[in-house]
Amino acid sequence: MENNNSFGNPNNSNNKPKKKFSFYWIYVVLTAVFLGSLFFNGGSKTEEIDKGKLITLLKDKDIEKIDLVNGEIAEIYLNESGLQKYFPNERSSSFNSTPNYTLRIGSVERFEQDLETAQEGFTDPIYPQNVKRHNWGAEIVSWILPIVIIFGFWFLIIRMMGRNGGAGGGGNVFNIGKSQAKLYDNASDVKVTFKDVAGLEEAKEEVMEVVDFLKNPGRYTKLGGKIPKGVLLVGPPGTGKTLLAKSVAGEANVPFFSISGSDFVEMFVGVGASRVRDLFKQAKEKSPSIIFIDEIDAIGRARGKNPMSGGNDERESTLNQLLTEMDGFGTNSGVIVIAATNRADILDKALMRAGRFDRQIYVELPDLIGRKEIFEVHMRKLKLSDDVSIEFLAKQTPGFSGADIANVCNEAALIAARRNKESIEKQDFLDAIDRIVGGLEKKNKVITDSEKKVIAFHEAGHATTSWLLEFAHPLVKVTIVPRGKALGAAWYLPNERQITTKEQMYHEMIATLGGRAAEQLIFGHISTGALSDLEKVTKQATAMVVYYGLDEKIGNRSYYDSTGQQDYALTKPFSEKTAEIIDERVSQLIESAYQEALKILGDNIDGLTQLANKLIDKEVVFGDDLEMIFGKRPWVKEEIEFPKEEDNESTSQQDNESESKSESESKSESESKSESES
Ligand code: ADP
Ligand code: ZN
Repeated sequence: MENNNSFGNPNNSNNKPKKKFSFYWIYVVLTAVFLGSLFFNGGSKTEEIDKGKLITLLKDKDIEKIDLVNGEIAEIYLNESGLQKYFPNERSSSFNSTPNYTLRIGSVERFEQDLETAQEGFTDPIYPQNVKRHNWGAEIVSWILPIVIIFGFWFLIIRMMGRNGGAGGGGNVFNIGKSQAKLYDNASDVKVTFKDVAGLEEAKEEVMEVVDFLKNPGRYTKLGGKIPKGVLLVGPPGTGKTLLAKSVAGEANVPFFSISGSDFVEMFVGVGASRVRDLFKQAKEKSPSIIFIDEIDAIGRARGKNPMSGGNDERESTLNQLLTEMDGFGTNSGVIVIAATNRADILDKALMRAGRFDRQIYVELPDLIGRKEIFEVHMRKLKLSDDVSIEFLAKQTPGFSGADIANVCNEAALIAARRNKESIEKQDFLDAIDRIVGGLEKKNKVITDSEKKVIAFHEAGHATTSWLLEFAHPLVKVTIVPRGKALGAAWYLPNERQITTKEQMYHEMIATLGGRAAEQLIFGHISTGALSDLEKVTKQATAMVVYYGLDEKIGNRSYYDSTGQQDYALTKPFSEKTAEIIDERVSQLIESAYQEALKILGDNIDGLTQLANKLIDKEVVFGDDLEMIFGKRPWVKEEIEFPKEEDNESTSQQDNESESKSESESKSESESKSESES
């Protein structure tokens, strides 16, 4: 049961159980009152009699008066002689104050009739007096009980909504509009610093700047610069985004408010927005400070994508409030918002605008070296046996995220403990990896050794063909570390050209098909891994034939419609016969490019194998390595610089699995645009 201090004395800790108790007491008391009131009617000590006794009493003239209560119960009061007869001992106390007998009656008319017949011929017969009486207890309960039940229900719901245990008291009705951010203060908690974050060098460097902004704002504002307000960390789950944000707070030694995007989303309208407001208010009070919003996509999803469902209103108003707050707080107020997501593509564009999350830092799954460093960080606390080799373990865990590796280390320690060992041995780690791979298979991308080999040759095929073709883009970097849904990726440095020749396009097609050609050549069979390659190549070939007039048979014609008004989905601008020729030419073009790729790779199978093995070994290969294997590209006139890291100019080409259709589509579209249009 969640407790909150806004009820009472916050520093009285033994207050807690008592309050817990009293909460249920309300129910107990009310139930008792209710049940008691039910028995209230028949609950008095008065004896109940039957009609026969009443008639006897009447005939003997022992009755003083009869009250007919609510037309249901006759209350009979005895007179002096009656009392003497039936209650000789308690004469004074009960006389006329409470009825001596009661009688339940069926119908009022029958009862009156009975009275008359019983007293026939009497000079002063007794007539019943009608009395209306309220049973206040029962009535009050019948009013209050439903209200209590409704409130109880409400309490229950609120309680359930405040499920995030320690999150600053969300479990209280009166705090529903308050932010549920967890505060890591200077004083509190364990400090996370950059030492605890392994790998992620580029990301660290960028957030280091943020630390510097917070520590020495004067240095930047003096020159008129503006300190950024928001930093967006993008990357798959478990790669250390939260850790990175925490380490920024730890390094800068400022308070750190951590909240998840989904905490803003409640079933009540306006709650999200008011929580955002409250969060920023708190952060500003403690400025300089850092707000960390995990899973920002829960609120930051693009607005108005689905106009049919009105259910987004709440999320939209929350997002609007967030945008307003980010715009609102002065540039130098010392609050920096760090947000994390693994889906930057679905975020509302407004979030990315200048002055909001204008910095994006990509946090990728770690490569071999990164994994080694993460193992090192998490093994610091472990008691290891001598046979444990970090290098070996890093090699065994391709596709693992930092969180997975942390999990492996912990699991290994548990396994070793169960086996009553003094230190953790290699075998414990291997068993832990097996166990985690088993659990990961469904949710994550874990690559088996044979798959890794296929991917390595596939990527090596791209790299080799593009290196050996004069007009293809030279390779910058190729990796078989899975990124998002892609299994591997290669970066190329596109030439700055405005016009693309037929040869250039053709060579690029060959390089794109190089992946599949390598699979065919080495393994004798092909796989689904080339979906996006094929899609790209098909689009390119079709564009060459249909749009750019680069095919002899179709000639200098373009069926491109720059006005965008023609609906080609319904009516094609060419005849059926032309359509057939187009189909034929497109497939001929692709087929000949494929054959060319097979030929190039066949002639250079040694280099291809070397490169693939290097990839399997190191997971990342750069242009320099290709130069070592294949020699310099002879047709390169001016020296091309090979940037070591991915930079903005290079485009990336990804090999996606079949399920990621939409993603690969947008990629290849934007790519063909940048390459082919003037
Ligand atoms: P994310 O926020 O990206 O989902 P987290 O930051 O919550 O991931 O990471 C979860 C855990 O995984 C961390 O607490 C840490 O133990 C471990 N971890 C992830 N990445 C790293 C890393 N680069 N170095 C050290 N530990 C890491
Ligand atoms: Zn490919």
